[in-house]
Amino acid sequence: MAEEKKQELVEITELVSVPHKFSTGPTMGRFLSEIRDNKRIMANKCPQCGRTQLPPRIVCAACHCQVDDWIELKNTGEVMSYDVTYVPTLNPLTGKMREVPYTTASILLDGGDTTIMHYLDLTDPKKLKMGMRCEAVFRPDGEREGRVTDILYFRVITE
Ligand SMILES: [Zn+2]
Repeated sequence: MAEEKKQELVEITELVSVPHKFSTGPTMGRFLSEIRDNKRIMANKCPQCGRTQLPPRIVCAACHCQVDDWIELKNTGEVMSYDVTYVPTLNPLTGKMREVPYTTASILLDGGDTTIMHYLDLTDPKKLKMGMRCEAVFRPDGEREGRVTDILYFRVITE
């Protein structure tokens, strides 16, 4: 039996830089502006089914009607699920490797009907629990840029 010949993998390393911008549109633009300017987390509310959407979308995901009503959610909420990551991966927003471990959580903010994914400040799996209360931690005044990362993370709170 002939020995299987392995082919050498040839790799070429290149750094690709493609500066670009995209328009958020009015709905996502208001959501990001409220976080930047007022540290307020705004959802929009469907006029037909009454469901709030976070992040807000221009149409209701259930009814497919246009959504123009807005509601301010609390900066506090409940952890619905979470993941602790131990393998470093590239953050496409920064081009840098993420420090590990880190926790991402699906968070239902008080007053909302849909969850938002964000970082949680707790990484110990023995201490993490679904239903934990948490609170948004914003970048300081003057440092917010109109990005979802203007919320740095959610910190676990005890009430
Ligand atoms: Zn609806």
